[in-house]
Amino acid sequence: MSNLSYKRTNVYEVADEKLMKSIFDYAKGYCRFIDEGKTEREACAYVEKAAIEKGYKPFEFGMTLKAGDKVYYNNRGKNLYLIRVGKNDVKKEGIRILASHIDSPRLDFKQVPLYEAENIAFAKTHYYGGIRKYQWTAIPLALHGAVVLKNGDVIEVKIGEDDADPVFYISDLLPHLAAKQNAKTLGEGIGGEDLNIWLGNIPYTAAKDEKDKTVKENLLRILNEKYGMVEEDFLSAELSLVPAFKARDIGFDGALIGAYGHDDRVCSYPAYTALFDEESEENTVMVVLADKEEIGSEGTTGMQSAIFGDLIDAIAASFGTTGAQVRAKSKCLSADVNAAYDPNFRDVCEPLNSTYLSCGAGITKFTGARGKSGSNDASAEFVGEIRRLFNENGVIWQTGELGKVDVGGGGTVAKFVANMNIDTVDIGVPVVSMHSPFEVISKADLYEEYLAFRAFIK
Ligand code: MN
Ligand code: MN
Repeated sequence: MSNLSYKRTNVYEVADEKLMKSIFDYAKGYCRFIDEGKTEREACAYVEKAAIEKGYKPFEFGMTLKAGDKVYYNNRGKNLYLIRVGKNDVKKEGIRILASHIDSPRLDFKQVPLYEAENIAFAKTHYYGGIRKYQWTAIPLALHGAVVLKNGDVIEVKIGEDDADPVFYISDLLPHLAAKQNAKTLGEGIGGEDLNIWLGNIPYTAAKDEKDKTVKENLLRILNEKYGMVEEDFLSAELSLVPAFKARDIGFDGALIGAYGHDDRVCSYPAYTALFDEESEENTVMVVLADKEEIGSEGTTGMQSAIFGDLIDAIAASFGTTGAQVRAKSKCLSADVNAAYDPNFRDVCEPLNSTYLSCGAGITKFTGARGKSGSNDASAEFVGEIRRLFNENGVIWQTGELGKVDVGGGGTVAKFVANMNIDTVDIGVPVVSMHSPFEVISKADLYEEYLAFRAFIK
């Protein structure tokens, strides 16, 4: 092939021993992060702790920032901003922003969750984000979240991660009796109201009153003993079921990692570690770990929250300028995953314009659906700038869309950042089985994403 043609580079084909070691070593830290941070609350706390260890101080409105300052803003325990103020003039150079999200699809307890049927206690759930419901049955689930008691105390819940813990469960039919269910479409096989969690099976036989000799009563008794909670406390609780699996290498060679919630922690981890590791002090850098991306980036902790602009305004004010001026000069990599080309499902992938496993960080010029609807279509100029930057820094990267035209589509935080007059392009790690309980990524892509971010903020 002539050097006039474009061809993707497979990282594992060109990596020398040193790069291979870096790739595999880097993945270990990532696996610790996703195992410890399965929800936005846990990921936020994990990174906040790491930031404090790196000398980051809490930011408060009214503070004046100066070059060399390292601050963080923990927004309601679910959304974290890390800011390192550089020597460059933010009026002229703006801020280098890495924006990823730390929420993932899951099953949330409803606010009145508990019921009992034929001596089994269940919890009703309402799914969060885009899931294929049948994938969440017959697997071990862990319960994570927070309960706000009547007196305002907040109880942190995490059950099912320790080997000694019980896990939770949603049943599915045995094949012997599934003929009718099998005849349904895959989408209809398991309905939203079928995602009921198995909680217990022992009735409270010691109850004085006959009508309290129930499994639900026994469960309430256990919860009261363990957490001091009563049934009404579920009304002010956020309890989520996530897969109880830990991150594991996939395949004989360990090139890939299977885990829950790669989307989008596989971009969050390279974002904040790039910031911690990059020693150049020129640029002002902001790392955003956003919540609520999976449900539209809404609310106080989502990317559309005013807090994003408020923090930029605060940086601007510290240097005697306006947020508008800083935003106009800022640049953002919207760090979110893309669908990897999957040879098992060729019919939905367009081979020229897919991201491939182990071919590096994936630039996505536009997301959206149909005629690019709902997408930030990054400018050729900005993509060109990023292209030059990555090539000059030896980053292995590729480009790809999310599937064939008109087959589906998706979005990221990119458009919300771009709407603030900030040049933005999507870049992310290709994922197989995205939004399933056990997604797959390549260690090589994870590492190239990290190198890409380091080049961007340098
Ligand atoms: Mn995502
Ligand atoms: Mn997603």
